[in-house]
Amino acid sequence: MKYDIIIIGAGPGGIFSAYELVNQSPQLKVAVFEAGHALDRRHCPIDGDKIKSCIGCKSCSIMNGFGGTGAFSDGKYNITNDFGGALHEFLGKEQALDLMRYVDEINMRCGGEGTKLYSTADTRLKKLCMQNDLHLLDASVRHLGTDINYVVLENLYAFLKDKADFFFDTPVTAVTSVEGGYEIRCGDASFTCSKCVISVGRSGSKWMEKVCRELEIPTESTRMDIGVRVELPAEVFSPLTDELYESKILYRTKQYGDKVRTFCMNPKGVVVTENTNGIITVNGHSYEDPARQTENTNFALLVAKHFSEPFKDSNGYGESIARLSNMLGGGIIVQRFGDLIRGRRSTPSRIEEAFITPTLNATPGDLSLVLPKRILDGIIEMIYALDKLAPGTANDDTLLYGVEIKFYNMEVKVNEKLESSCRGLYIIGDGSGITHSLSHASASGVYVARNIISALAE
Ligand SMILES: Cc1cc2nc3c(=O)[nH]c(=O)nc-3n(C[C@H](O)[C@H](O)[C@H](O)COP(=O)(O)OP(=O)(O)OC[C@H]3O[C@@H](n4cnc5c(N)ncnc54)[C@H](O)[C@@H]3O)c2cc1C
Repeated sequence: MKYDIIIIGAGPGGIFSAYELVNQSPQLKVAVFEAGHALDRRHCPIDGDKIKSCIGCKSCSIMNGFGGTGAFSDGKYNITNDFGGALHEFLGKEQALDLMRYVDEINMRCGGEGTKLYSTADTRLKKLCMQNDLHLLDASVRHLGTDINYVVLENLYAFLKDKADFFFDTPVTAVTSVEGGYEIRCGDASFTCSKCVISVGRSGSKWMEKVCRELEIPTESTRMDIGVRVELPAEVFSPLTDELYESKILYRTKQYGDKVRTFCMNPKGVVVTENTNGIITVNGHSYEDPARQTENTNFALLVAKHFSEPFKDSNGYGESIARLSNMLGGGIIVQRFGDLIRGRRSTPSRIEEAFITPTLNATPGDLSLVLPKRILDGIIEMIYALDKLAPGTANDDTLLYGVEIKFYNMEVKVNEKLESSCRGLYIIGDGSGITHSLSHASASGVYVARNIISALAE
């Protein structure tokens, strides 16, 4: 079967490439290959009753399928160049922001209308942060919430399904260069195309490495962020979340000069597990629907780690730490901040006696046996700094879940059109290492679609 364009991966990057291609050039023959299930078949078997923890499904419904890793996420679209990716380095700040706004408009037309757009610009909190040696990053944040995010995806699929061919449960195994384009192999079947867009996100990172090796596309991998997910009563963090919903706050530690940041804030949300290639880490969700909200707020505190020569496997380092926590806790470990400071493990009874109810069933334990001292020291320092902004953050009962890791895909060398050294092969979204967020990944999809349309018209 021959297509004009084949897109590999149906996360935000792949979806928005497909959207822009079929919308601008309906005559193009477009196919989308996705390793995971169609949206309506994506169900995680953990029900908290019969199945309490991850059973390692062949295709993880949380990470894979139409909507990608972000399908059940909190749906926070951060319209900013300050974080979430480095798209602006390839196409300029204004164009990057314009594309993110364009994605927002589509999301609004597809069911997101009425959701809130928050902004950090000129807020009282910005000044308060500075006074406490904390730095609030600028952003406009569209909060869809997990429930509306799902509706938007349903509507996007309804729009796309008759305009492009979708192949679900079809992991692409190989991409090879052939005359006039590329051949895509999925087990025994093969398909060809003139242009190929790879948007396989984080879960496809190992496969992406293999493709780059085979096609001799240069890459590098030097960054990883590691830390914990903090859970506390929603009232404690309400001075921040009521005004901004999500705030990205940066702190530079006094002890080592390391950067620690807040990440993925979920007011009245739940802490969840995440399975990346068999490694269990922690994350968070929240819902727009008040009926599904909890009494707790959670967010991650992550320490950025950059490695230099000769070490090249930053993700391997993070995976080893996550494995250690999986080995000690059988999955995720939870510890009260008070226990951590006193150098003792949390026990089931200490967690039960706490004045906060954990939203995730994790194993009480000792995070100091898992996280390197320097990283843990940075997290503790930032918790005390945040306590000045939101008193109560450093309370004994504040819960820390570990480990949370932000794996960065290796960075693939692409040009300003996001085209790799193989002509006609574009690498976008989180799989390219250039984006790390819904809005940047989606914007990279729109951008590459427009570049392909121009290239085909030449
Ligand atoms: C729990 C959670 C919450 C998050 N919350 C937010 C948030 O609120 N805001 C935000 O900006 N970001 C958030 N993120 C990050 C965000 O989801 C990602 O940045 C975004 O989804 C990246 O989009 P993508 O299209 O590049 O990749 P992905 O969304 O990862 O999609 C890639 C797709 O490719 C498929 N694939 C992989 N390999 C192959 C293959 N060989 N063949 C075929 N298909 C393949 C996968 O199955 C997957 O569906 C969250 C992430 C998680 C895990």
